[in-house]
Amino acid sequence: MPKDTKRLKIPLKFAKKLYFLQFFHYNADIPEEWRIFLMRKMLKRINLFLFFVLVVLVVVSPLSDILFPALTRLIHPAESSLGWNLILVNGEHYIPRDYQVNLTELANGQKVDSRIYPELQAMFDEARRQGLGLYVASGYRTTEKQRELLEEKIAEYKGQGHSSKEAKTLAERWVAVPGTSEHELGISVDINADTDVCTREALYSWLGENAHHYGFIHRYPADKTEITGVINEPWHYRYVGKEAAQEMYDLGVCLEEYIESLK
Ligand SMILES: [Zn+2]
Repeated sequence: MPKDTKRLKIPLKFAKKLYFLQFFHYNADIPEEWRIFLMRKMLKRINLFLFFVLVVLVVVSPLSDILFPALTRLIHPAESSLGWNLILVNGEHYIPRDYQVNLTELANGQKVDSRIYPELQAMFDEARRQGLGLYVASGYRTTEKQRELLEEKIAEYKGQGHSSKEAKTLAERWVAVPGTSEHELGISVDINADTDVCTREALYSWLGENAHHYGFIHRYPADKTEITGVINEPWHYRYVGKEAAQEMYDLGVCLEEYIESLK
């Protein structure tokens, strides 16, 4: 009897049963122990093969999106073949680590990509000329800053009595996972109203009607939540350039839909 027979873990009963189901041809010349040993060896291989097939099926099937969202979610680098202004960053497209940005600092210390600064300033000048009060509450963020914001939000939910898992899920509804926030690109800004000058409603209504003239879009509208994966953020404006902004405004589509239509 081969020495390593005992090390194989397939139950003897099971191996014997399969053997007598003629899975393996009976040969009287082979001692019983040897036949069982061979059977076990074969079963081990079959098990490995079945496991391999199962893994392949799970990974390639659309079900994997449901079963393992964390595994399949962050697998694409941000798509930027249509130009820097149309780069798509969201929960499924992460910013490449070597992404470079040249920044311009605003009067209040916030920073934005230098390429969007002239139009951002022109938009603010016009809004102010029309009696609105506004400022950039958040422009460019480093990935570390984004991580800090997410951790703060998680801590806030934990403080309200949620479990770690719940707190993380809730926080991610409000704060993008580091590497997937447009703020890390420097071409998005959160715009707040100076409520001493005008109401939030007045500001967001004006931006909704005018931002596209300056190349900016309301990135996460209420009616596009299912596509963008982000709840309505009236303050978050994203630069896409005047031409794309005008088209998106006319068609009533969000960035994901617009990019899809260009493919
Ligand atoms: Zn934002």
